Amino acid sequence: MTAGPEAGRPAVFLDRDGTMIEDVGYLDSLDRIAFFPWTVDAIRALNRAGLPVVVITNQSGIARGLFTEAFVDDTHRDMSARLAAGGARVDAYYYCPHHPDGTVESYTRRCDCRKPGRGLVDRAARDLGLDPARSFVVGDRWLDVELGHAVGASGILVRSGSGAAEEARRPTDVAANAVVDNLAAAASWILIRIGDCHPQSAIRDPQC
Ligand SMILES: [Mg+2]
Ligand SMILES: [Zn+2]
Repeated sequence: MTAGPEAGRPAVFLDRDGTMIEDVGYLDSLDRIAFFPWTVDAIRALNRAGLPVVVITNQSGIARGLFTEAFVDDTHRDMSARLAAGGARVDAYYYCPHHPDGTVESYTRRCDCRKPGRGLVDRAARDLGLDPARSFVVGDRWLDVELGHAVGASGILVRSGSGAAEEARRPTDVAANAVVDNLAAAASWILIRIGDCHPQSAIRDPQC
């Protein structure tokens, strides 16, 4: 099997709220950012395996006028600083600012980037040279799993955040590749999947 010019690296696409940090509803101030106790270690483990870690998050609070894009950027800078203090790194953050029922006109529309739409994953894949079909999507809602399947990735539901409640009301047409307690367990599941491969070859070898 020869890799075409479109072939990219596998990656881990992470939901933010309820998966990396507590879901506090619309997060609108930096002092409300609360990492789960396992988040830094889990992301560092993915980093060490050579897997790009990309956050994919719906932030309709922007369309609803609750906070600005600049605030979301500040939030992600703050998160990255806290991750860096623990030796962990998110490679890129992508968010959807839209909602069909927003109050801020410029963000009020249907879009292809609000999850489970695949627009953000496609953008990240182009920007970073990733192959979604060999990748993993981790989140606490079925829409995260749906996104995974839409792009040909493995979809993993975590029980943190809304995940336990979501697990109890699975839509009949969606099944996760794995349902696990939290991001630490999801990282272990992913590392086992790529475990037959050296971290560097996991990036190059389509079999990994
Ligand atoms: Mg979530
Ligand atoms: Zn959007």
